[in-house]
Amino acid sequence: MHEKLSAIYESVLRRNPGEIEFHQAVREVLDSIGPVLGKHAEYAESKIIERICEPERQIIFRVPWVDDQGEVQINRGFRVEFNSALGPYKGGLRFHPSVYLGIVKFLGFEQIFKNSLTGLPIGGGKGGSDFDPKGRSDREVMNFCQSFMTELYRHIGEYTDVPAGDIGVGSREIGYLFGQYKRITNRYESGVITGKGLVYGGAQVRTEATGYGCTFFVDEMLKARGTSFDGKRVVVSGSGNVAIYTVEKVQQLGGVVVACSDSSGYVFDEKGIDLDLLKQVKQVERGRLDVYTARRGGQAVFVSGRSVWEVPCEVAMPSATQNEITGSDAALMVGNGCVAVGEGANMPTTPEGIKVFLEAGVAFAPGKAANAGGVATSALEMQQNASRDSWTFEHSERRLQEIMQDIHARCLQTADEYGMPGNYVASANIDGFRRVADAMLALGV
Ligand code: GLU
Repeated sequence: MHEKLSAIYESVLRRNPGEIEFHQAVREVLDSIGPVLGKHAEYAESKIIERICEPERQIIFRVPWVDDQGEVQINRGFRVEFNSALGPYKGGLRFHPSVYLGIVKFLGFEQIFKNSLTGLPIGGGKGGSDFDPKGRSDREVMNFCQSFMTELYRHIGEYTDVPAGDIGVGSREIGYLFGQYKRITNRYESGVITGKGLVYGGAQVRTEATGYGCTFFVDEMLKARGTSFDGKRVVVSGSGNVAIYTVEKVQQLGGVVVACSDSSGYVFDEKGIDLDLLKQVKQVERGRLDVYTARRGGQAVFVSGRSVWEVPCEVAMPSATQNEITGSDAALMVGNGCVAVGEGANMPTTPEGIKVFLEAGVAFAPGKAANAGGVATSALEMQQNASRDSWTFEHSERRLQEIMQDIHARCLQTADEYGMPGNYVASANIDGFRRVADAMLALGV
């Protein structure tokens, strides 16, 4: 790492003790942007990097709610408003027991550069809670969401901060959150949250956008190498919203998805995942993946408690959570013939894993670029809300595809400009960083 940057990194470690995921996310960006500082002394002069690493505002709050037994439960809520140089803070809410400030800061930090890469007017933020929706009834989830919004509403707004979903927050939760915001403020302010249902201000393709967008990005990478998804064996980790629509688009482009996973294990389905059955089990019934195999008539096997990355594939689409592909997973995958990776999740590959992929010449699409389709389509939802309009599915999907193609083309070009052809990790960081840095310079200290 560049000397000045390692001093900044040391101070991030000191100022944010114990927040290891945040440290990892900062390190990855600082590792990439050294060459930019060589060309732009003005960034260092006005301490742009030190300022980017410090959130503009961090909110931590109590979320009390009543469960179905009538017992009071208490969770912790977070919203980190990281950077508003490019637009209102924008980023999802994650409800998962692992959530603490370090996770929210890592996600918020990534979001700054991801949102910048989309080319759309959105700043970076993230929030969430250590609430575990697993096993909770609809009413408990509603109680929790209403209590969460009873505090959050005062911090957000269509010109201030616009949340959306992430792990554990889907259309059901967004509905309850928006309902409570509307109730408290007496404003039908559609643009205050994205990922809304289609009947009350949501946008076509928002649900599909992260998975579709990631697949479009990988398709571009494959095309740049003279190949395509057609006939390729693909493994997708996870089986939530991102994974399901990744499976859908990969199948439409001719790839064969042979495995997907959840926290209990993975499904191996040699002839290709039955998408309708997967949707029924995971989206409608909110069940576990062993139910999928039980209903697949002996075609698929369920492997409990092991990593899905042991299944050989040519294209890997990690779409579950952070740090799920380790250095040894990556080495195994490369040995098994993996040629491309598209990160649908945020930071699913460890630094060691990324190193293995890059050294092996694998086409590696980092989450910041590859999964930006989700937040980009959120920005399109804000655009439709602001103009009181709604676009067709076809038009929205075309816009998403253009945005992903544009991010891909700019990453390729930046990688060439900086003498690192094909390195999307460095170029996504550099490209995302430059736009935010220029806006921060223009806006003054
Ligand atoms: N949580 C998603 C992400 O990681 C989407 C955020 C949004 O739509 O605001 O980018």
